[in-house]
Amino acid sequence: MFVQELVLRQRTEILNALCSSGSAEHLEQVLDILLSQGELTWEDYQNIQVSGRALHCNARKLLDLVYIKGEDTCGLFFAAFKRVLPDAKGVGTLSSGCSSTLEEKEEHQSTCTETLLTQRPSLVEKLRGCIDGALEDLVTSGHFTSADCCEVQLPIHTPCQQARRLLDHVRSKGESAAKVVLQFIQHKQEPVSPLSHEKWTPPKEVLKYQKKLSSSISAQSCFLSTYGGTSHMSLDDIYTDGQLELAHNCVDVNGPLGLEDIVGAVGTVNKEADTVLVSGEAGGGKSTLLQRLHLLWARGAALQDFLLLFPFSCRRLNSEQRELSLRELLFQHCCWPDRQQEEIFQFILDHPHLILFTFDGLDELKQSFSDEHRLCCPTQRAPVHILLFNLIQGSLMKGVRKVVTSRPEAVGPLFKKHLCKEVLLKGFSPSGIDCFVRKHHSDAHVAAKVLESLRTNTALLGLCHSPVLCWIVSQCHKELLGCGEGSLTTITDVYLMILQHFFQHQSSQKNTTGLCWLQQHLQTVLHLGKLAFDGIGATCYIFSGTDLETCGVTEKDICMGFLMRSKDISTHAEGYEFLHLTMQCFFAALYIVLSDNTDRSTIPKLFETQKMKEAGQSSRCFIACLPSTDQPQRPSGGGTTAAEMPNRQITATFVSGLLSQRHRNLWLHCCPSAVMEKRVRQVVKCLSKGMQKHFKSIPQPVEGEKKSMHAMPGFVWLIKCIYELQEDRVAIDAMSKLEVDHLKLTYCNIGPVECTALAYVLQHLRNPVGLQLDNNSVGDVGVEQLLPCMHICNSLYLRNNNITDEGIRKLLAKTIQCENFKKIALFNNNLTDACTQHFSRLLKIKQNFVSLRLGNNNLTEKGAQQLAEGLKCNHSLQYLGLWGNKIGDAGAEALATALENSKTLVWLSLVDNGVGSAGACALSNIIKNCTSLEELWLTENHITRSGVESLIQAMQHNTHVKSVWLRNNDLSLEEVEEMKQRESRLIL
Ligand code: ADP
Repeated sequence: MFVQELVLRQRTEILNALCSSGSAEHLEQVLDILLSQGELTWEDYQNIQVSGRALHCNARKLLDLVYIKGEDTCGLFFAAFKRVLPDAKGVGTLSSGCSSTLEEKEEHQSTCTETLLTQRPSLVEKLRGCIDGALEDLVTSGHFTSADCCEVQLPIHTPCQQARRLLDHVRSKGESAAKVVLQFIQHKQEPVSPLSHEKWTPPKEVLKYQKKLSSSISAQSCFLSTYGGTSHMSLDDIYTDGQLELAHNCVDVNGPLGLEDIVGAVGTVNKEADTVLVSGEAGGGKSTLLQRLHLLWARGAALQDFLLLFPFSCRRLNSEQRELSLRELLFQHCCWPDRQQEEIFQFILDHPHLILFTFDGLDELKQSFSDEHRLCCPTQRAPVHILLFNLIQGSLMKGVRKVVTSRPEAVGPLFKKHLCKEVLLKGFSPSGIDCFVRKHHSDAHVAAKVLESLRTNTALLGLCHSPVLCWIVSQCHKELLGCGEGSLTTITDVYLMILQHFFQHQSSQKNTTGLCWLQQHLQTVLHLGKLAFDGIGATCYIFSGTDLETCGVTEKDICMGFLMRSKDISTHAEGYEFLHLTMQCFFAALYIVLSDNTDRSTIPKLFETQKMKEAGQSSRCFIACLPSTDQPQRPSGGGTTAAEMPNRQITATFVSGLLSQRHRNLWLHCCPSAVMEKRVRQVVKCLSKGMQKHFKSIPQPVEGEKKSMHAMPGFVWLIKCIYELQEDRVAIDAMSKLEVDHLKLTYCNIGPVECTALAYVLQHLRNPVGLQLDNNSVGDVGVEQLLPCMHICNSLYLRNNNITDEGIRKLLAKTIQCENFKKIALFNNNLTDACTQHFSRLLKIKQNFVSLRLGNNNLTEKGAQQLAEGLKCNHSLQYLGLWGNKIGDAGAEALATALENSKTLVWLSLVDNGVGSAGACALSNIIKNCTSLEELWLTENHITRSGVESLIQAMQHNTHVKSVWLRNNDLSLEEVEEMKQRESRLIL
């Protein structure tokens, strides 16, 4: 007999054996084994092991699943069963082919999270006697809160169950938490020497080199480098965690990533590759994050699996003119071994898994990534970028872990092919901003004032998600607190503030001239502006004394603090760089706006929206902006540079901001009005043309469908430029030509700053639209920023956007007054019962509201009861989606009572909500009485036969209902078959 059939035949006996003791231990042991064998996925496990559900229901779920999975899984199930219950009578014995054996999985898994799964049965054994110690380690390392510990240690759990809950929790906390547990267990087993498994120690000369390398890295990374021109700040004092996410959806990863997860195996997409990309916007904290990793490594506080770490800055590699071998690259650019270079280099070659390379700012490299020149020989000399590209691809030193940072626009598919994973750095979270400001100001009183002022200016608060802007705002706190409320709203405003701040604070000269601050420092602005502008055209970020001289930069200009000294390691010559790349773009923009020398075509070329790779010609546009005599030498090969497009976009955004009417007084005596007016007209024309180009690309809708526009690259940037310009007429004009019903901006990297700009422009749309912002980082601050355009929004899609109850409170307070607003989708946010009172109010008041989707949040019966209050009084709602919450029977009953007489409800989903038969019986009343209902979704609940009977009876009175979905409830296969026969509209 086939084992699959045996699972059906012996169902009763198996259930008896697993459940008759009343303890879940046997079932859980079987689950542990199946998980460790990879026969159950983590999702399967979560679907089976639902806490609070009856033991036999969980066991039935398991049997259904192994049956569906087929012969092999059934075989392994019996093998697991036999191991747990060797004496169980009559189970599995009829099978002739029941010979599956359980494999012992290798201990060397690629990630710690995987090890937690594959070694689960033995880990449960090892942990059960020492739960307290493991929890203590997890709390100390910051992975567990005391609430987590309480959940694990619930007294109703046996020690084994506590161990399992601990492992389940750890899994949700990510790779570094998993590592802590494994280390704890290892330490427990080998109390004498935690590292005794590493019998081998590296050769003496390597250890010496490591010491030298780490002390040099420690010295380089302990201060925040961009404060060089102003003040030194210790990284320990100021470092604030940014938000890290995997770029790809990964089922294994719940919750935020930690710093060490960047280098670890978690989220790996391509196991063959060794390179991790950390991508983020300019000023998003990429360099600082690497600096932190370097410092932690150098101190022995992180990344201790790597014996040697070699940090590189692509900006500095740009100035390496010589051809180098790999050995020269490592030793000359990072750390020179005092002796035995040969041996040390050989060690590096022989132990790639002990080596870590970091490359900061790939987007700043003069050459764009290419894999044309293959190089495999570590002693062969080649231009530095060729070495770098071959390291990234793995043709050189395969097996060495590499972390590369870059702006997202600057890396193409060719590069991404060589990545094992991509991690997104998304700036500070709201609490990160809070933390940074408090760290920045030792005076708590000042910090509180700055934070208060940010709270009253949410546009500015939105900007502070970008660490560089958060730094500027904190740095200029006096100006911030002194200026009128709400007057700082654009990125340009913030950079003008730091410009003024530096001039007024660094200049020893008292202003006795009566000139405005800008006029007084105009020459400095123009000198630095030219340096910045030329540099961006030539992908040059480090400037030599000659460069400074050519642009007329004087000692006095340098003293203002916008430039900092940079040691060019390769030539050991002193060089200068701007405090930050965005600062260089800002000075380039100042030059474009204020200089007499810029060409007529400068502004139009700056705003060209062509894709970088479209033509060599477009890639040269920044250079073409320069008068021909000023054109710098192109990097050899004349290829496109990855940074050009993003640099151009940042500069264009600043140009728009600087030409805003709001700042004209500042320019009044710096540039003839006619010239300024002309430049403004040029910018306005460029923005209008850019927008039209986007609108023209909108395809005509298929008949009967809505006209929809999916934002193309560059659309959000144009919107941001219009926002910086702050001229309503430009926004009105742009929107007058946009005729769509639906605007799709999914996966567009939209955070609070982009929301401010979008709302500013979209509020002028002529006709209402559906605004789809799914899968961005809108957050509560972003939601607040969107409010000004809500009146023109008929539907709002904000799935997966980190929104909490507070964001909803503000959103609904506004939308309740918006006649057009009829639909909202908030799947997968952080909503709890606290937001349902606001929805309830909306439903009561808005009698034209049509669709409410709140799936995958944290609503319970209390939330459903609140919603029901609103639903009772609503006469318009057609779609209600609550998939993946926890409303249970009581919640379902409350909703059923509220909806049973609805004349409008068409679709209701309570999938995966812990609803049992009592809930199903109540919901039958909706079927009985509500004539509009077409679909009822109750998949993944705990409904048993009696609940389904009630639904069938109700359906007999209702011919309108098209389908009732009941898959994965607590029904036996026989019951499923029987019910299907009785009611064909049941989907079982
Ligand atoms: P990117 O490399 O992405 O352009 P940077 O790392 O240079 O950004 O960050 C710009 C500035 O923002 C830094 O000089 C620092 O002042 C501030 N900053 C960035 N990240 C952090 C952080 N994690 N903690 C504290 N300050 C930060």
